[in-house]
Order: sequence, then structure tokens, then C-alpha cells
Amino acid sequence: MELAFHGATGGTTGSCHLLRAGGRTILLECGLFQGRRASTYGRNLRFGFEPREIDAVILSHAHIDHSGRLPLLVQRGFDGPIYATAATRDLCDAMLRDSANIQLKDAEFLNRQRLLERVRGRRPQRARWRRGDDDPPSLGPSNPAKREILPLYLEEDVRATLKLFRVRECGAWFTLGPRLRVRLHDAGHILGSTWVELESTERAGVRRLVFTGDYGRAQPILRDPTPLAAGDVMIAESTYGARSHPPTDDTDAQLGAAVERLLQRGRGKLLIPAFAVGRTQHVLHALEALFERRRGPALRVVVDSPLAKRATEIVAAHAECFDEEALARLARVQSGASKRLHVSFTETVDDSKMLNRDEGPVIIVSASGMMESGRILHHLAWSVSSPDTEIAIVGYQARGTLGRRLVDGEKEVNILGHRYAVRARVTTLNGFSAHADREGLMNALVPLASQVETLFLVHGDNDQRLPLARALRSAGFVRVECPVNAATWNV
Ligand SMILES: [Zn+2]
Repeated sequence: MELAFHGATGGTTGSCHLLRAGGRTILLECGLFQGRRASTYGRNLRFGFEPREIDAVILSHAHIDHSGRLPLLVQRGFDGPIYATAATRDLCDAMLRDSANIQLKDAEFLNRQRLLERVRGRRPQRARWRRGDDDPPSLGPSNPAKREILPLYLEEDVRATLKLFRVRECGAWFTLGPRLRVRLHDAGHILGSTWVELESTERAGVRRLVFTGDYGRAQPILRDPTPLAAGDVMIAESTYGARSHPPTDDTDAQLGAAVERLLQRGRGKLLIPAFAVGRTQHVLHALEALFERRRGPALRVVVDSPLAKRATEIVAAHAECFDEEALARLARVQSGASKRLHVSFTETVDDSKMLNRDEGPVIIVSASGMMESGRILHHLAWSVSSPDTEIAIVGYQARGTLGRRLVDGEKEVNILGHRYAVRARVTTLNGFSAHADREGLMNALVPLASQVETLFLVHGDNDQRLPLARALRSAGFVRVECPVNAATWNV
């Protein structure tokens, strides 16, 4: 088998691993690099391999950092099958369309800003490279002379991509040729998420590869992950390789405290940037549970993301993945039947803009989770300089993102081309994570140590994956590798 890593090496976005085995060339994931536009645009355009060479894609789950470059792959000539669960296919339908739409809207907005700057006779702000960014900035787009930003792909590319999906159930083998078979297993990370087991018949015998995808943890609403199997070769995520999650109770208490602060102020906003898929439903579930227990006044919650509305519907349609109580709670939220929590979903951009002038108190749950695109940017631009705003961070913030800068306590941030002072309170709630933490990863991997020849760690910043690699070596793994980008291995 030959493996080459083309993303999520020393970072958490852009997952894309190329495998040659059993006479086939397979791509595990085809994710989008997320972060500062200046450093990610060029990286997203370059695959590092020829898309036409790929026979098939196996997609572990729908998150955009795993699926978001599929339409670009198709645009560049890939026309093979994309294997995933039914829920992943349904979520990708919503998410990839949304991704195309966001890219188009952002490009329109930024190009307009640049045009205005030029007309006003000011030089456009040049992207500055900061220490810690993955790459020096490349303004990247096809026509640098005009500094015009083009979307990576359009909705028509997404439509062509969706036609290539082939749905596979967890637990059942399927073949990718006479010498290669694959099986998906429940990963307990988001709706439809899987880890991947692959068996290739080589000259020396059968070789097994196991890829964890994003490996989950016991969460209140989703089924627990299926325990991992050993592979001769394993590829494991390491997002929280050196961190432990606080207990769920602590997180519920912190969320409760943020809600109390909002009610006590009696004005302003609690902004919760959240991935539309998975995290938004988890947050709504936690808020509903909180308000079931809590006495006192009702509170408005606005979910400002058309994708979140669609995703919440998809969640409701895949009842098989959830426990009953959680589903009943989400149904109450979705239908507006919740007693003390008045939840609404915005429909149009105008609805979203109306929220800017809303004096509150109101909770706004909005995508995107790492605050690099989508409607949350406009909410932040309006509210980040107000002491009446609190921003509750409920997801992992990759290096280089606006979300990470807020978590790191920067006093001034750049949003959509303008500088804003940060006067809002920023609270981090790590317990919402859908990833296994250090203990979760160790517990899942260490029992397999004696059966694994090589373990590759991906999908983690180096301050997470390097300590995890050391811990795994001490726990009995013979060979643990932390590959760099485009590195190729014969295993
Ligand atoms: Zn994920």
C-alpha cells in the first residue's frame, strides 16, 4: 500500500489522504482548508495529485473540512463513485450547496469592498502574513492583477458531485475491485459519521487499513462510537491529542451562566457561532434542557443560518441515529413548542440583517463555527465592540481563524476588511466537542497497539498531535508517524 497525505497534516482542516492499494487509487476525504482567506485560497486550488487518477472517494462524514473540496475535484475531472452513509449524503447535499453559496456571496462582498476602496483612491489592505499561519499569503485568484476573488466552485459543480454519491450502510462490506473491500462503522462524531476499515489483497497477503475519520465521544444526543478495530496501518485524528474535555455538567453550567448574564443585562446578545450541522442541534438541545429546568422569563433564540434549518430537518429525518428523549427535545425546539425558549429560524438575508438592530436580550446561533465566513461575520462586525455582547465559543477554533484570535484574547480583530475593537466578553465552552479528547483517543487506540505496524496521526495542530504521538509510543506503539504535507509512504 502507498499513502500520501495532502491535507490536515499539522492542522485540522483540508483532510485529504491518497491511498494506492489493491490496484486502485482511493481518496479518503476531500476537505476544504479553512482559515484566513489569504493563506487558504491557494492551498484549496492545488490538490497535489491529478483528480482524474482517482478511482473512488470514501467520505467519513459531511463536515466541510472533510467534504468541502469534492465539487472542485469533480470540476477538475473526477467522475468516480463517492462512498458515504445516507445521512452523510443528505447532509452534503445541504452543506456543499451552502458552501458554494457562501463562497459566491463572500467573493461578491469582498470584490465590492475592493472596488469601493479603489474608487475612493485608497490602496486595498494587503493581507499580512502572521507568524503561525500555514503559508505566506497568496492573493490566489485567477486574475491577481485585478485582485478579483473567484469562488472555488459553483452550485452546478455541487449538483454534478451529488450524482456521484453511492450510499453504504455501516457494518456491511462493499468492494472497490477484486482486491479491495471496505466497511464503514459508526464514529459517533456527527450524524452519519463513520470510521473506515479497508482490506487490500497484496502479493504478501491481506493488509488492513483503519482510518478513524473524526472519532467521536459519548454525547447527549448521538449514538456512542463503535470501538475501533486494529489495522496493520492506522490513520488517526489528533484534534484534542493533548487536551481533556470538561464534564458535560460543567459545560451546561457555563452555558447556563452565560444565559443568566444575558438576562441580567436585559439587553444585548449572546452570540453562539456554531457549525450548522451537529453543533447547532447540540446547542439547541442544551438550551432546551436548560430552560426545562429553569424558572423565570422566556428568552428568544434565533438560529441564523439557512443551512442549520435544513440540517435540523435532516437530523429529524434520521431518527435512527438518536435517542428518543433527545429527538423529542429537538422536535419541540424545531416546532416552536418549547415553553420558555422562543426559537425561530431566519429565512432570508433581510431577516438576518434585522437582527443587527435587535437590542435583545437575544441568543443568536449562527454559522460558521470558526467565524471565517457566513452570517456570523456580520453579527460580529455589528456587536463585537459592544460590552453588551457575549460570544460563547462552542467548537474547535483552528489556527489562523478569527475564532482562534478571539479565543486568544486579541483586543482588535479584522472582520470583512475592517478593524474592530473587541469589547465583547468571550467565553469558551469546550465540553460541546464532538471529538474524543486525549483520554478518549488513548482508550480507543492503546488496546490495539500490539497489532499495529504503523500509526499515522493527522487532523491535529502539532501542539496536540506531537504529545499524543509521544504518549502512544510510550504506551506500546512501535511506529507512530506525524506526516507532513504531500509526504508519501510505502506501508
Ligand atoms: Zn468533523
